[in-house]
Amino acid sequence: MSQVSQDKRVVVVGAGWAGLGATDHLSKQGYHVTLLEAGSYPGGLVAGWKTATGRSVEAGIHGFWYPYRNIFSLINQLGINPFTTWTRSSQYSPAGLEVESPIFQELPQLPTPLGTFLYTQFKRLPLIDRLSALPLLYAIIDFDNSDEAWRRYDFVTARELFKDFGVSARLYRESFEPMLLVGLFAPGEQCSAAATIGMLYYFILAHQPDFDVVWCRGTVGEKIFRPWVERIEKSGAKVLANRRVTDLVVDDNNQVTGVVCNNEIFEADAVIFAVGITGMKKILSNSPSLQKRDEFRNVSNLGAIDVLATRLWFDRKIHIPRPSNACFGFDTATGWTFFDLNALHDEYRNESGTVVEADFYHANQFISLENEEIVPRVQRYLANCVPEFRKAKVVDSSVIRLPQAVSHFAPGSYRYMLPALTSFKNVFMSGDWIVTRHGSWSQEKAYVTGLEAANLVISYFGEGTPAKIIPVETDEAHIQLARTVNKTARQIGKSILPEFWLP
Ligand SMILES: Cc1cc2nc3c(=O)[nH]c(=O)nc-3n(C[C@H](O)[C@H](O)[C@H](O)COP(=O)(O)OP(=O)(O)OC[C@H]3O[C@@H](n4cnc5c(N)ncnc54)[C@H](O)[C@@H]3O)c2cc1C
Repeated sequence: MSQVSQDKRVVVVGAGWAGLGATDHLSKQGYHVTLLEAGSYPGGLVAGWKTATGRSVEAGIHGFWYPYRNIFSLINQLGINPFTTWTRSSQYSPAGLEVESPIFQELPQLPTPLGTFLYTQFKRLPLIDRLSALPLLYAIIDFDNSDEAWRRYDFVTARELFKDFGVSARLYRESFEPMLLVGLFAPGEQCSAAATIGMLYYFILAHQPDFDVVWCRGTVGEKIFRPWVERIEKSGAKVLANRRVTDLVVDDNNQVTGVVCNNEIFEADAVIFAVGITGMKKILSNSPSLQKRDEFRNVSNLGAIDVLATRLWFDRKIHIPRPSNACFGFDTATGWTFFDLNALHDEYRNESGTVVEADFYHANQFISLENEEIVPRVQRYLANCVPEFRKAKVVDSSVIRLPQAVSHFAPGSYRYMLPALTSFKNVFMSGDWIVTRHGSWSQEKAYVTGLEAANLVISYFGEGTPAKIIPVETDEAHIQLARTVNKTARQIGKSILPEFWLP
């Protein structure tokens, strides 16, 4: 396709991974792009800032897993070096250390899922419980991320899925549910089985190294978004903060001609929404033009989850065996993680005391507590995992409440999630909750859907070169074979049996 010949105006709404991804690509192509962000700075859920005392904090720590190929490619293009090396992680329960993970790419490569199964060091979970996961392999083969597979599995809860496939109660409680709490931010009975298999396959099972992770050596805002936004602005895009979009201006031709931001109107030849579920619901509640359409009204059926991000500064150096740690069993239905920021962040490397980030997912019951109640509780929980925390003194702390912040992949939610194309000819959707067949999750998915939306704008106008989107790594040969056999068996079954039963 050709370089953009005229000034085509694109308005992007929301400056997280998705919105910045779309803005970056379209402005490089010569589009006249305006990015409107409701908050005071770009970053969305990954934003970071400084406290009154000048210390860096952020809306939770973010890991970058081995399969984040598009984000790693962006980092190379930007010529920056924001990440730690691959880190090892541990898992704790109130009983102590439960699991240690190696760096999987450093060990001899085995056909998936053998490496994950054999190399993960479980400290307490008996072999018989681990073996009870084997029948689940069928669901992993059967779920191929197609629309059909989503419709087959999305109505089932993760808990029912694990129960039906014979997973032991202990394996569910001590392994799968903790993974759901940190991966999909909700307990098993509140997660769609489709999202569960998709997420587990992407982060853990597709290839042995997939669970390997790096972290930013400071806030993602400082290390990645600052240089990225500088490049975006250099290529001509306008990034405007403190602009909360409230409605669209629609003409008689089913085309959007403008974006309303309280009393300002930004003229637009195309619009990309890159806001989260809660943001979209708020826009819908103010927007008569969106309320007229079923697909947007249906977004009201979707939900989001509360998260709490805390950062504690202690008066002394405490030895934390692994830099990143996930924890379960401290509260019903809440998972949490803690990170040794002296090990991960440049800013805290030479600090005389210890700096720890502790983030709580599905934190509904914590969000209304006062900071004075939250901080001692976090210290108590930390001391349960690393006893030295008990005697240490908290000298500073930050508590960030993120109500209704992360996308909830609830059972039955798939039918309400929006695809990138909408019933408006020139409005496109992006973000980590948008339906895509790419197969990625979280930050990588948000970035990929931003690029996909940019490509839809390019194809709508027929001008510019589409962004190259790196697909997820292909399935290993034995998985491909098993999927082909399964698909053929399903097709034969479909041709003989009537469509009588629920999918
Ligand atoms: C505590 C925590 C830990 C996490 N850990 C990880 C992790 O380890 N790894 C990982 O990959 N992912 C993680 N995630 C998930 C990850 O942050 C998200 O998947 C990703 O950031 C979503 O990006 P997005 O662009 O889709 O949306 P968002 O980041 O939500 O961006 C949407 C933007 O739209 C703006 N907006 C909303 N309404 C309007 C409006 N009306 N007008 C203008 N702007 C508006 C918002 O202010 C926001 O800036 C975590 C999330 C949290 C909260």
